[in-house]
Amino acid sequence: MTSLPKVTELARVRLEDYRPIVGDDLIDDIRRLARPLAGMTIQHINSAAVGGGVAEILKRLVPLMEDVGLKAEWDVMEGTPAFFHVTKTFHNAFHGQPVTVTEAMLSTYVEVSRRNYPLVRKADFVIIHDQQPLGLTGIKEDRVGKWVWYCHVDPIYVDRKVWDFLRPFAEKCHASIYHIPQYAKGIKNKEYILSPAIDPLSDKNREVTEKEKEEVVRRLGLDLEKPIVLQVSRFDRLKDPVGVIKAFRLVRRYLPCQLVLAGGGASDDPEGQQVLAEVREAADDDPDILIYDLPPTSDLEINVLQRLATVVVQKSIREGFGLTVTEAMWKGKPLVATAVGGIRYQVEHEKTGLLSHTIEGTAWNILRFLQDRELAQAVGQRAREQVRRRFLLPVYLRDWLILLNLLKDKH
Ligand code: UDP
Repeated sequence: MTSLPKVTELARVRLEDYRPIVGDDLIDDIRRLARPLAGMTIQHINSAAVGGGVAEILKRLVPLMEDVGLKAEWDVMEGTPAFFHVTKTFHNAFHGQPVTVTEAMLSTYVEVSRRNYPLVRKADFVIIHDQQPLGLTGIKEDRVGKWVWYCHVDPIYVDRKVWDFLRPFAEKCHASIYHIPQYAKGIKNKEYILSPAIDPLSDKNREVTEKEKEEVVRRLGLDLEKPIVLQVSRFDRLKDPVGVIKAFRLVRRYLPCQLVLAGGGASDDPEGQQVLAEVREAADDDPDILIYDLPPTSDLEINVLQRLATVVVQKSIREGFGLTVTEAMWKGKPLVATAVGGIRYQVEHEKTGLLSHTIEGTAWNILRFLQDRELAQAVGQRAREQVRRRFLLPVYLRDWLILLNLLKDKH
């Protein structure tokens, strides 16, 4: 069983560092809310120490919880290839893909969950992240503390058979958490909403120096003469990169501009490679379309690209939450996106971004921002303030503390 090293090995974050960004009131609220929880233990359990959004957020949330007086632990369950095959199938099922689930697969899930049970601590709160460790809830009835299932994906299209299997495990928890209200499954426990957040002090989001900017521009061979339309996303059809190219070509009929498509994960994901090939074919060596297949260590590059962009696009066909949207909004960028899932939850049309459903609508919205810099600036500014109020790490911590206080007093 892997028990992660404690705070020192996690990200070095301290609540006070955020005071200049989020203001005194929020930091003071957090301190107040943390007081009744002082010394209480909270155990987070997921299935990956690195990679993926959950690990990313735990790396920062766990030390912050410690910093405000909780005893926070993060443990990673240990699976087998067969187990991860099952949970990957479940993952695909959550995304609405047709899957085949056999009795043998379900037995593997239950068996590996049982073997991982010694991982569970006698904590006041046990937080099960996503479906991989959810089987732990089925092992013992005499467990202590309050158990919570945190669903980090969009479960709207989940395959019926998979959900029928997982639901009883989720119902054994005292509460469940979803990213946006529409995702609540109506299961027999308390349901809460905790949207994810970005860390304004991480390399992905912190302010960058001119020198850092220049270095990234040189490394990527960017030409800053023409306005930049940017989409940052894994090369995945659900992010519709080819649709972005089509919208860009419509825009360019009216205004000179360039398109940057930056993504990653293509090398180890066969489908990513295929989508990247489709994108290259659609771009057809157009000198105004730059495609960057970035390694996973490209936080600073993504940060700089987002800061250099004139307009940021997120033309997803589906989007669980859409952290790239949050990141662009935090950088005060005018955002053009499709009105789906978590994007609709984050962006208010005309106020904090422009939403549409089609290629033509996307093109029209990009043009509006390129032609009306005042509008672009005003929308970007409001977007940044919206993220400051709702989607920064300390806000997330405050909402966690409210939730833990509620749970603590529940029987
Ligand atoms: N991202 C990255 N490298 C890439 C593409 C994306 O680091 O090549 C980051 C992006 O900045 C964001 C996250 O991965 O922080 C993607 O999260 P989002 O919710 O937008 O989409 P997902 O990929 O989870 O569907």
